[in-house]
Amino acid sequence: PVRVRFAPSPTGKLHVGGARTAIYNWAFARAMGGTFVLRIEDTDPERSTQENTDIILRAMEWLGLDWDEGPGVGGACGPYFQTQRTDTYQEALDRLVAAGAAYPCFCTKEELDAKRKRAEAEEGGYAGYDRTCRGMDADEAAARIAAGEPHVWRLAVPDGHGPVEFDDAVYGHMSFPLDVMDDMILKRTDGTFTYNFAVVCDDINMAMTHVIRGDDHLSNTPRQVLVYEALGAKVPLFAHLPMILGPDGHKLSKRHGATSVEQFRDEGYLPDALVNFLALIGWSLDGETTVVPPEELCRVFSLDRISKKHGVMDPQKLDWMNGVYLREMDQAAWLAAAAPWIAQAAVLGASADDGVTVVPTPVPGEEPPARDFGPGHEGWDEAVAAALADIEADPASYARVYPLVIERLSRLDEIPAKLEFLFWGPNVRLDEKSMRKVLLKEGARAQEALAACREALAREDVPWEAAALEEACRALAEPLDLKVKNLLQPLRVAVCGNMVSPPLFESIELMDPADVLARIDAVAA
Ligand code: GLU
Repeated sequence: PVRVRFAPSPTGKLHVGGARTAIYNWAFARAMGGTFVLRIEDTDPERSTQENTDIILRAMEWLGLDWDEGPGVGGACGPYFQTQRTDTYQEALDRLVAAGAAYPCFCTKEELDAKRKRAEAEEGGYAGYDRTCRGMDADEAAARIAAGEPHVWRLAVPDGHGPVEFDDAVYGHMSFPLDVMDDMILKRTDGTFTYNFAVVCDDINMAMTHVIRGDDHLSNTPRQVLVYEALGAKVPLFAHLPMILGPDGHKLSKRHGATSVEQFRDEGYLPDALVNFLALIGWSLDGETTVVPPEELCRVFSLDRISKKHGVMDPQKLDWMNGVYLREMDQAAWLAAAAPWIAQAAVLGASADDGVTVVPTPVPGEEPPARDFGPGHEGWDEAVAAALADIEADPASYARVYPLVIERLSRLDEIPAKLEFLFWGPNVRLDEKSMRKVLLKEGARAQEALAACREALAREDVPWEAAALEEACRALAEPLDLKVKNLLQPLRVAVCGNMVSPPLFESIELMDPADVLARIDAVAA
């Protein structure tokens, strides 16, 4: 049975590369009816933190990548934190020592550096550790250890070993000449074990059948294969995943936008969309299909469709895909996902100043001007939490915003800006460009249109429903000799503050009639 693992080092958040590695392991385990193990490689004491571990676990949970063994769920091969497995590394080392496959080395750093310099100056170059201590008499070694002399433990690579070979599901059969590998250190002077040793001990003891990981580890693999051989263990099948690059062909970094799973969550992406998107960077179902939901991925994923080429992270494609997933959700699920953002819209809206405030039109690509109240301000989190509680108490009435935004939504974090106008009460935040283009340019005509619409909206015989209100307003176009657009745009700007808005009358229907009329009066004044 297939056993695979995702083995993050908690030295940072879960980034797209790591998340994709996790997804492939998870989907492969599911597709093969195997076991997916999560192992935290927290052996770097300076850079590993509990906080990062928590962030990684939460990101995995949020993505829906459930693990069968690992932190929180346990399992027969635990513990699942490397720092708690030191005794198993020592056991493995003891076995190697007993078999003559590992030996203590007392060469000091200074000696080794000097030897390396000398060798580098010579023709053949540096060929690795020269094995000075390898032939040492066992009694002498024991005596020096007993005397407390600092030492490391090295792997005794067998003499006459040919090239190191292994199979990789992505790169094919790999062969590395042995002469580039010296007797690698397994245990350091300070008693800690090296990554290449610990990871192999774990993969053996956790009975891994496949090792799927980033190809930044490809150069470690031959050394690791030597450890498998020394321990007499079967070498797993490797699958090294090509890197993910930014759209410009450069290594993914902050300037390409979000890179951590947490950031994507905060920007309003759905976990399923993100899993689908990341899975398709470097893997394909048939070269065409773009929507492969996680449940399907778990049925169809296979290692042989992983690409050898580096993958490209295209944020526009993710936006598109997220929109697809948003529109796939039923309304109740959508509302549950969107509620935190609708709550922000409500809080932003309620913070609008009294009357009409003209606000600068946002410049695309530029940070919008700071608001008096917003994320990060004192009281913001509390206000959003309170608004969220209101939504949760009355989901039916908030679900009515769904048709206003769903068609053009690609990220949930677009919601606050799109919907805050619903929560302005009688006040208006008037977009400067819309004001100039719609209200001022047409001057008297715009005022005339606005006044007529106001009258229609105030009619007692017209029910406060989108279709009826729209009909009453549209009927004014002919008598006023206005194009429908010129008739309704001033109304849109007055009510929504912007010439671009969700469907106008559907929006008006959701608002308090007194507020709508008050906004028109304020803008007309
Ligand atoms: N802990 C390693 C990393 O985060 C992964 C090791 C492995 O997958 O073998 O890069």
